[in-house]
Amino acid sequence: MADPKITKIEWVIFKHTIQDMGTDYNGFNQVYLKGSTLNPHYMLFRIHTSLGVVGEYLGGPAPSEGVIRYLIGKNPFEREKIYNDLKRGLRHTDRTEICPVDVALWDFAGKVYNAPIHRLLGGYRKSIPAYASTYHGDENGGLHTPEAFADFAAQCRDIGYPAFKIHGWGNAPIEREVANVHAVGKRVGDKMDLMIDPACEYDTWADALKVGRACDEQGFFWLEDPYKDGGVSMFGHKKLREHITTPILQTEHIFGLEQHVDFIVNGGTDFVRAGVYEDGGITGVMKLAHASEGFGLDVELHGGGLAHRHCIAAIRNTNYYELGLVHPLVKQTKPPIYPSEYTDELENVDAFGHVKIPEGPGLGVEIDRDYIRACHVHTEVRE
Ligand SMILES: [Mg+2]
Repeated sequence: MADPKITKIEWVIFKHTIQDMGTDYNGFNQVYLKGSTLNPHYMLFRIHTSLGVVGEYLGGPAPSEGVIRYLIGKNPFEREKIYNDLKRGLRHTDRTEICPVDVALWDFAGKVYNAPIHRLLGGYRKSIPAYASTYHGDENGGLHTPEAFADFAAQCRDIGYPAFKIHGWGNAPIEREVANVHAVGKRVGDKMDLMIDPACEYDTWADALKVGRACDEQGFFWLEDPYKDGGVSMFGHKKLREHITTPILQTEHIFGLEQHVDFIVNGGTDFVRAGVYEDGGITGVMKLAHASEGFGLDVELHGGGLAHRHCIAAIRNTNYYELGLVHPLVKQTKPPIYPSEYTDELENVDAFGHVKIPEGPGLGVEIDRDYIRACHVHTEVRE
C-alpha cells in the first residue's frame, strides 16, 4: 500500500458566550462579573487524508500558512517526523502551532486503527481523579474573600473532588493571599489535597516566600508559578525550594523537552508541568512524561480536554486531572459540544471526583456539529 497523504487542511472558527464573566484590573484574568459576558472564539482543526479519514482537534489557534503548506502531501502517520520538522521550522516562536497538528494526527491514527488514543499510547489507568481549579479571585461578590474560597472548597469536597486549586487575586495585597491559604487550609486541609497557583501575579520573590511559608503551615500539596519572573527562573525557584518545604510546580511557561530537562537538572522544580498546547501536542507531552519518569518525578498536565484525558490514562507518574476553570456562581463556561461527562464543568465528576476516559476511536467523543454550525464565524480551507 502506498503511503497515505495529507490532502486538505480545514479550520472552522465558532464563538461561545460565557455569562457573568469579565476581566480583572489589567484585562488578562477572567473573573466573575455579574451581567457581563465573554465571547471567546474556538477552532475545530481538521486534517483530511487520502484514506478518507479526518483527524480533528478542538482548540486553537490555527497554524500559520507556512505550517499548512508543509503539511500538505506529508504522511499523516509520521507524527515523530512532523513534530521534529515543525520544532525546527518554528524555532523562533513558542511552537504552540505543533499542538493542533499533532493532536489531530493522533485522532486520525486512532480512527484508522479503531482504537482510543490512550490504547495506542499504552494504557495505565481506567479513571482519573480531578482537582477543581478555580477562576481567579474577583472583587465582585464571587470568589471575593478567603471565606468565599473556603466555602467553595467545601462545596467541591461535597461534590466529590479530592483536591482543590486556588487561582488567587490579581494585583492584591499579599496579606490577603496568605489569609486565603490559611482559610482554605483550615476549612478542608484535612480532607483534600490543596494547591495554589498565583499565575505569576506576585511582584517579588519575597511575596512568593510569604505565601510559601503559609502553604507549609497548611500542608499544601504544591505551590505553582508564584511570582513575576514569569515562571521561568531556574535559580529563583531553586532558592525558593531551599526556604520552604511545600513542593513547587514550575515549567508551565517554558516550552518543550530540552528546556524542561534543563529546569529539572538545575533543581528548579519538584513537580514537572506539561501540556499539549505548550509542549508539542500529545507527542511532546509523552516525551515529557517519560523524561520526568526517568528523573523519578511526577508530571502534572496543564488544563483539561480530551487529549489530556488520553495522555493521563497512559502515564503512571501523574496525580491529577485539572478540571477548570470553575466558579460557584457560573455553571456553564465551555461550549457544550461534547456529552456532559466529557465537558469540564464543575458538576461533571463522579462521586469520587473522577472524570471519564473516552473509549471511542481517536479522541473518542462525538462532537455536537449542530452547535458549531449555529455558532459558526468562518471556515478556512487549504489543499
Ligand atoms: Mg498554572
